[in-house]
Amino acid sequence: MKKSLRFQLSLTSALPVLLTVCIISLSAHFFIQRQFDQYIMEQQAAHAASLAESVSSQYDAHHDGWNLDYLHGFGMYALSDGYIMEVLDAKGASVWDAQNHDMTLCHGVMESILSRMRQQKPGTNVELISKSFEMTSDIGEPIGRVLIQYYTPNYASESDFGFLQALDQILIYAAAATLIIAVFIGIEMARRIARPITAATKAAREISIGHYDVRIPEHTGSMELITLTSAVNQMAEDLQSQEERKRRMTTDVAHELRTPIANISSYLEAMAEGVWEPTSERLSECHLEAQRIAGIVGQLETLHRSEENESGIQKSEVHLRKICESVASSFARSLEEHGQHCTILGEDFSLETDGDKLRQVLGNLLSNAIKYSPEGTSITISLAHTDRNAEIRVRDQGIGIPKAEQSLIFERFYRTDLSRSRKTGGAGIGLAIVKALVEQLGGHITVESQENKGSVFTVSLPMQSSEKS
Ligand code: ADP
Repeated sequence: MKKSLRFQLSLTSALPVLLTVCIISLSAHFFIQRQFDQYIMEQQAAHAASLAESVSSQYDAHHDGWNLDYLHGFGMYALSDGYIMEVLDAKGASVWDAQNHDMTLCHGVMESILSRMRQQKPGTNVELISKSFEMTSDIGEPIGRVLIQYYTPNYASESDFGFLQALDQILIYAAAATLIIAVFIGIEMARRIARPITAATKAAREISIGHYDVRIPEHTGSMELITLTSAVNQMAEDLQSQEERKRRMTTDVAHELRTPIANISSYLEAMAEGVWEPTSERLSECHLEAQRIAGIVGQLETLHRSEENESGIQKSEVHLRKICESVASSFARSLEEHGQHCTILGEDFSLETDGDKLRQVLGNLLSNAIKYSPEGTSITISLAHTDRNAEIRVRDQGIGIPKAEQSLIFERFYRTDLSRSRKTGGAGIGLAIVKALVEQLGGHITVESQENKGSVFTVSLPMQSSEKS
């Protein structure tokens, strides 16, 4: 049978307390009983000694004799308390003996003590003690002995038993109260622990059916539970933003394709209706728009492949400077058209990575640097490395990127306001591809930029391949 976490936690916190309370109560019970028996035994021993003392004070030294009436009264009084007394003179002859005097009574008194103790305190080890006290006169001469027999421990009164019973009752009440408090605290603690877990389970279920806006309220509590709730919240947030990105992507794609398609269709319509002559300029306008559409679709395919890592990674030892030089030379014509110049700085070094993907990254960055820089400016690609990382910086003297937009340019279809006005701008997919590729290679990309001064894109790659595959 499945038991709830709350039940299990309550049980596990109540059980040790129950056990501890039982152990403490039982040991306190036995300890107090033993101590009390000990106390009673000491009291009885002291009483027997004081009886002997009282008897000796009775001795009349001047008349060298005992007051028999007194001894009788005193002996009977001691017997009623459970002490059987015999007084012997200095020669050892019996002066007064309780058993000689009334054997039946002595027997009866002792029997009643035994049965009372067995009844009220079963299990107590009641012993018959015999003690002998030497008596001396005021001047120190021996005058005889007192023999006293008694059962010990002997609880003199009901209140002695009552005292122990009251103590036992206090122990039972304290144990019950402790247990109730422990169970209550256990249930409350279990509720506190179980609440965020239940909330996390509920939230995970909601998330699984696509309700990404669900959030667990932040609870205070143990670190692990806080981590759990924030992990679930983070997962919901990530899925929500992924979902939003997907939705935005669809509208963005539609938006990007609508303009060239509308242009082509209006050109073709006008030419078909004979409104426009199908001149070669107009046809090449249509061709350009078609190329634009093909470019967007191609970029989307590349982005998809990069993000899904469909093309896989082909690692080999690549020489970084050589790659930069070959990328720069592939842009030679474009650079020339823009009157721009590209310089490569830094010694050549090799690292293990996917050369084609790196080429694509550098190509996109260089293409952007050319597109977003005025004529006559220069572009620098600089190389550096440490034992662990290689860094490639692509620096331009272009239009720059406003600070607030620097973190957004790596998102799909994002274009800064500065670049939108430029005819040369693309669809805003290039940097999303770059970011996906760099991350595939196990690195990261950052940007620093100042409006109208230029931008620096820094690609960091691990020297040893540690790409995500
Ligand atoms: P696009 O195809 O529009 O260039 P990218 O994804 O490559 O798309 O770039 C996204 C946006 O980032 C660009 O539209 C532009 O606004 C900005 N950007 C990228 N590179 C640069 C750069 N070197 N200088 C200034 N702005 C840049």
